[in-house]
Amino acid sequence: MLFDVLSDTVGPLNVFRDGDIQPQYFSDQSFGCSGAFDILVKPASVEEVSGVVRLCNEYNVPVTPRGGGTGVTGGAIPARRGIVLSLERLNRVISIDKRNRYAIVESGTITKDFCSMVEQHGMYFPVNPGSMAKSFIGGNIAENAAGIRSCAYGTFVEFVMNLEVVLPSGEIIWTGANVHKNATGFNLTKLFVGSEGVLGIITKAVIKILPKPAVNKVLVISFMSLAEACRAVLDLSMISPVACAVELVTRSAIELAAPFLPANYPFLATDPEAFLILEWEGSSNAAIESAITSAFDVLDKIGTVRVFVAKTAEEADLIWSIRRVMGDAMVSDNWVYRDIDAVVPPSALHEYLGMLDVIKLKYGVRLICFGHAMDGNLHTMLLLSRDKIALEGDIIDPVLSEIYTAAVQLGGTISGEHGIGSLQQAYLPIQFNEKRLDIMRRIKVAFDPLNILNPGKLMLDS
Ligand SMILES: Cc1cc2nc3c(=O)[nH]c(=O)nc-3n(C[C@H](O)[C@H](O)[C@H](O)COP(=O)(O)OP(=O)(O)OC[C@H]3O[C@@H](n4cnc5c(N)ncnc54)[C@H](O)[C@@H]3O)c2cc1C
Repeated sequence: MLFDVLSDTVGPLNVFRDGDIQPQYFSDQSFGCSGAFDILVKPASVEEVSGVVRLCNEYNVPVTPRGGGTGVTGGAIPARRGIVLSLERLNRVISIDKRNRYAIVESGTITKDFCSMVEQHGMYFPVNPGSMAKSFIGGNIAENAAGIRSCAYGTFVEFVMNLEVVLPSGEIIWTGANVHKNATGFNLTKLFVGSEGVLGIITKAVIKILPKPAVNKVLVISFMSLAEACRAVLDLSMISPVACAVELVTRSAIELAAPFLPANYPFLATDPEAFLILEWEGSSNAAIESAITSAFDVLDKIGTVRVFVAKTAEEADLIWSIRRVMGDAMVSDNWVYRDIDAVVPPSALHEYLGMLDVIKLKYGVRLICFGHAMDGNLHTMLLLSRDKIALEGDIIDPVLSEIYTAAVQLGGTISGEHGIGSLQQAYLPIQFNEKRLDIMRRIKVAFDPLNILNPGKLMLDS
């Protein structure tokens, strides 16, 4: 019966069940996660999304919004069966308003397509997650995603000006206004950014865009000491104009990536303790050259460092290749990995890395550390052998608990960009007391009294 009325709502070719549902809809990119559900729907307009949600209310059936399915915390995998609502057909960039510096885009638009379209208009959207070829704008907003340039530009939340949302009742609202400042009432837009599909379904977004920087420059610095690399992160982040990317790659990650790198990767043969990759973007070469001169002054005071400044786009690409090959390196040799994206204040980075070493030795596990250093969002990958996962799986929980506890003790958080979903729920109490969890639950109930929207995600049900 529900299947038939859904067919009437979105058209019979856009509703699927049983063997007609393609396998990819049962999982995302989360470690060891998949889930069953009953019906897949693919609406093509906000009115159709609203119609589907109204039916879910009427039939009291859970509905899980799905973007590009690249999430790594299980958010798009239904916890309580029901319906998966894929946003993939809402994929238009509706308008790009250069004078007012925003774009209006449907939530099922692939991130990379959005960035390209913005650049075709001579403008720039700098928050591009590593998954940009597959993730959707709506999924990025729902996770408050980030990218390597977020240390300078911020994460999605800094760019979302207004959202069209279908509430769990099926009603359609706009959360803000298409303006760059807004102090009118509660900031519902910010509440929906990072809400992981539990408060409403995002159908359109108004996103701030910037003038496109004319030039950029990339360099890699090699350190023989991790302490010096961490000190350099702090000192280099004081330089104006600020670098748009400051990525730390520690010895564990360099060793894993080395077999996948071109032989001419700078300083690989010198057995470095850490690399720091920096990128500057700007309107003129002069401004960037002045920043690089300041960087050399900073590095002169730090210790034994070697610096390679890319002179061509190819050399810049070579420097960044160490970040690109990491995905393949981490699944080589039958490894599987769990991505831990805790955040600490940048000044605590070195102490945090020391605490990770202690945890690594205590549990005898392989931890690979690299990522966004200037914003303290270093990614830690727990590598496990696929063959031994049945035996070693029990170790994951205590290792993660200790890592998150370390981050929180240092003044950090358990996730900087990947969210909570289902995989991280158990660790929320490390950071939030019962009062804070209760406030979040009450916000959920205010929007979704029947608990039909992505139930069982983000926070544990009371
Ligand atoms: C190789 C790789 C690289 C990655 N790199 C990065 C990175 O650099 N930075 C980063 O932040 N993340 C990164 N990620 C994680 C992931 O890509 C992001 O979390 C991304 O934002 C998820 O978008 P998605 O469209 O795939 O969402 P999905 O996985 O489909 O969904 C994620 C969550 O959002 C909800 N949701 C989706 N669409 C909507 C909507 N329209 N309305 C309401 N809720 C919705 C879902 O219910 C779910 O809870 C990476 C993942 C991979 C596999």
